[in-house]
Amino acid sequence: MTTTAELNRLLDVIEKDIAPLTAKGVVSGNKLFGAAILRKSDLSLVVAETNNETQNPLWHGEIHAIKRFWELPAGERPDPKECYFLCTHEPCSLCLSGITWSGFDVFGYLFSHTDSAESFAIPYDIQILKGVYAVPDPDRDAPAPGRDLYNRVNEYFTSINLAEQVSASGEPDLIARVRTIGELYDELSATYQQGKGNAGIPLS
Ligand SMILES: [Zn+2]
Repeated sequence: MTTTAELNRLLDVIEKDIAPLTAKGVVSGNKLFGAAILRKSDLSLVVAETNNETQNPLWHGEIHAIKRFWELPAGERPDPKECYFLCTHEPCSLCLSGITWSGFDVFGYLFSHTDSAESFAIPYDIQILKGVYAVPDPDRDAPAPGRDLYNRVNEYFTSINLAEQVSASGEPDLIARVRTIGELYDELSATYQQGKGNAGIPLS
């Protein structure tokens, strides 16, 4: 369970460190996904980044943050196991793998894959997980209906749905903050959707 103070701090990072970068990114045609790497000990910021697919289609917010993290001088870079990986949106297959291969063992996200598909009109997370990884093998049983598209808790990482944690907290202030951040991301999404297709991103 994430405490109220921790949830407030994570929402602060989304609002004050990630979203301002994303506001600039979407204007130049990048998607609205962002990420930050924090120290678990005090949730202080190590790196915040946003999607930069106009430069390289692999620079999703999470991967861009990982790239920046590993570019830090070794003496300034905490052990990934001492870090909390914060994602604005539930990571796609690329970013799930990037987080795993980089040794981070926990991440939290505010908006789910379903939110990305339904509220932000970016369906690729679910489509790629189904299309590339979970195509039923005709020689075996089809996956059980409704099963998760990846193991949200596994030997490499634990993922935390922050919106669920906020709902479970029952704290009106936190619930209101998430609503406000949702409105902010609706605006960022509108900017991205207006200009998408013009920036040369393969899956836009
Ligand atoms: Zn991704």
